[in-house]
Amino acid sequence: GLHNTIQELKGNIRVFCRVRPLVEGGLSQHIQLAASDNKMITLAKTEESHTGKTADTHKNYNFSFDRVFGPQASQQEVFDEISLLVQSALDGYNVCCFAYGQTGSGKTYTMEGDEFDVSRGVIPRAVKQIFRAAEKLEEQGWEFTFTASFVEIYNESLRDLLYSGKASKRPEHEIRKSPNNTVTITNLAYERVCNEDQVLGLIMLANQNRSTAQTAQNDRSSRSHSVFQLDIEGVNVGRDLKCKSTLCLVDLAGSERMLKSQSQGERFKEMTAINGSLSNLGIVITALANKESFVPYRNSKLTYLLQGCLGGNSKTLMFVNIAPESDSFGETLNSLRFASKVN
Ligand code: ADP
Ligand code: MG
Repeated sequence: GLHNTIQELKGNIRVFCRVRPLVEGGLSQHIQLAASDNKMITLAKTEESHTGKTADTHKNYNFSFDRVFGPQASQQEVFDEISLLVQSALDGYNVCCFAYGQTGSGKTYTMEGDEFDVSRGVIPRAVKQIFRAAEKLEEQGWEFTFTASFVEIYNESLRDLLYSGKASKRPEHEIRKSPNNTVTITNLAYERVCNEDQVLGLIMLANQNRSTAQTAQNDRSSRSHSVFQLDIEGVNVGRDLKCKSTLCLVDLAGSERMLKSQSQGERFKEMTAINGSLSNLGIVITALANKESFVPYRNSKLTYLLQGCLGGNSKTLMFVNIAPESDSFGETLNSLRFASKVN
């Protein structure tokens, strides 16, 4: 139907926008969501006349996405819109889902959520759905193995978020690509999982690993990408069938721009690494959407790592998370522009 045609034209890339609720005391008169459908968002800027002699000027910036979620949207409502996409990972499609936005805009809330059942995010909901669906398929003779990994990319180097050994013995990691395009990371913990609780345990371990790095380096997690991967392998001996796919869920580094003059040394390195990898991600997704013959995967660790699950027959979803406070206007406009470029 029409929906399929649109999907084909877009090369299986979709963009959802999610507006975080206001932090108490913030203002948000400048964000309007269309009441008629849930695909439009308008950012309005009013500049007050300083002289009083001229009228205030209003400028509207309109954006449309595959779906826009307002601040009231629950984790369940958001997940309902992506559950089909998640499901397709069991049909042999590679699925990639990113959260893009400035620090504090709700990326981690969207992807991981918090400890309460109702506020669990995409990662635990997705794995829960996959395990359930796999159980049904097992009644039809399928057997599945699920392998999870969780890695952080900081300043273009990799760190295992599931590492549980001595800090002093942390190994180095490299990305390896086999001739059949399978990407693996050397020395990484690949954990067999078969239920939701095990995955929640891995998220907790990842958070512990993040906070130990954090104490040494203030706010590091907002300046690194977190990549959760679930590798799915299925065999149906009776029917002589096999399938193999990866579900990849990525909490990106904060997209906020930093002034060059304000960042020196370590901060400058971070800024350069983040800008480089986020803009390369945009370039890669756009190249895939336009079916260009050259896709510059190797220009950043993030896209190199994700090469196997971007492109080909894979499905990609990007969340653009935005903060509603008026002092975030500039960053919000930037994020929406970035997201509409890849859409
Ligand atoms: P980011 O990962 O983009 O830096 P967070 O996910 O940490 O942002 O969100 C910042 C704060 O806002 C957190 O305290 C988080 O719990 C809260 N928050 C974000 N999105 C929502 C939401 N949709 N509903 C309720 N609280 C949210
Ligand atoms: Mg975060």
